[in-house]
Amino acid sequence: MAQVSINDNIMDLVDGKPVLKGVRCKDCGNYVFPVQKGCPKCAGADMEPVQLGDRGKLWAWTIQGFPPKAPPYLGEADPAKFKPYGVGYVELPGEVKVEARLTESDPALLKTGMEMQLVADSLSTDENGDEIVTYAFSPVN
Ligand SMILES: [Zn+2]
Repeated sequence: MAQVSINDNIMDLVDGKPVLKGVRCKDCGNYVFPVQKGCPKCAGADMEPVQLGDRGKLWAWTIQGFPPKAPPYLGEADPAKFKPYGVGYVELPGEVKVEARLTESDPALLKTGMEMQLVADSLSTDENGDEIVTYAFSPVN
């Protein structure tokens, strides 16, 4: 069984680890994720591709308690089988805030400002039997 990235425009899988793909504005240095053509900060159009960092601080979070609308959601959509998961923004130092799934779903174990590590998160299996992998952040203990 192969592993495939949920979206090649958002992340690569390198040795089973996710690498987030962003862009940096050559005019003002602003980082943008996911990739877009222009800079939302200065309206510049000269964007260069960058690999984003894999560590950051939890900036805001909540718990997703029911299945998101599918599509585009590719995970378990049956409310009886769905498991709640954390979602949040992780601030990558000097770069950008990234919206992400969190591996932790217990509100007692999540704290704003805590250190988070980028990890691979298996979402589902596609029609070829390949494992669809997305990215998530996991608390650093
Ligand atoms: Zn800019």
